[in-house]
Amino acid sequence: MSYESSTGRTMLAKGLFDFVVSISAEPVQLVGYDVEKPDLIGEFEQVKFNADEIFADFPKIDNLKCKFCGACISYCDCGALQLDRNIPSMVISPEKCEACGECINGCSIHGIGRKEKLTGYILHGRKGMHSITVGKADESHEFQVPLVCALNQRINTGSLAICDLSPGISGYVLTALRDATLAILVINPSRGWLRNIQFLLGALKERSIPFGLVINKYKGEASFLEEVERFSKIKKVPVFGVISHRDFKDNEKYMPLNEADLENESIFATIWEKVVSSWL
Ligand code: SF4
Ligand code: SF4
Repeated sequence: MSYESSTGRTMLAKGLFDFVVSISAEPVQLVGYDVEKPDLIGEFEQVKFNADEIFADFPKIDNLKCKFCGACISYCDCGALQLDRNIPSMVISPEKCEACGECINGCSIHGIGRKEKLTGYILHGRKGMHSITVGKADESHEFQVPLVCALNQRINTGSLAICDLSPGISGYVLTALRDATLAILVINPSRGWLRNIQFLLGALKERSIPFGLVINKYKGEASFLEEVERFSKIKKVPVFGVISHRDFKDNEKYMPLNEADLENESIFATIWEKVVSSWL
């Protein structure tokens, strides 16, 4: 997971999956949660994917019946309902609504109806005993959280799942984190890196999910690396790996791993070793 897009997160998830598959005697699952940008599929040209349509019953406020009393709000555990007293209107947040239907029971005058909609697709493919499961949103609307919930249910119990989450700290990410046991935050060198991941850190701490960092696309930004190392030491957050940008050659001082060498298993062996030692 990462705060920004283009950090190389998906590529790292795929590389880690390939490495773990190469050493594991047990089935491993790779799950693509970036439902608006399901790039993982393109990483598996040899794999045949089957797609399941995922439908959900979405709540719909009936503005002709609704009295804007707000009584239904307390029925929503996801915090997806809001009363705008200015217009007035009831607003359902597409980033939070799981389409569970609880709010419908909260309105005694039937002010909330249901409408079945396609929320997206779940594509699944196999690589020997291992599996790849990827969510792909239906682009005609923004209500994608039920698709993320459906992905949560497709995680094979008892097997290791490596999940590629979408960037940022949207409702999709929070829903996907629900059963996570450990998180890897992929960061790129930038001045505001700590400010950018602050919300993610808060969400992980709130859920007691241990986490560590992988720095990707490092180009010798010494002050950035020192800052991360200081943060790592003070907050006791492990750095699982530093991967240099493919154009950066002078890597002797910190001996980072090399992005140009991503096909090489050693890069993921190093990261995996640190992940496992901080996990167990
Ligand atoms: S949908 Fe029903 S409970 Fe909710 S604000 Fe409208 S009238 Fe009140
Ligand atoms: S369907 Fe469920 S998640 Fe969506 S607004 Fe209603 S109670 Fe909240």
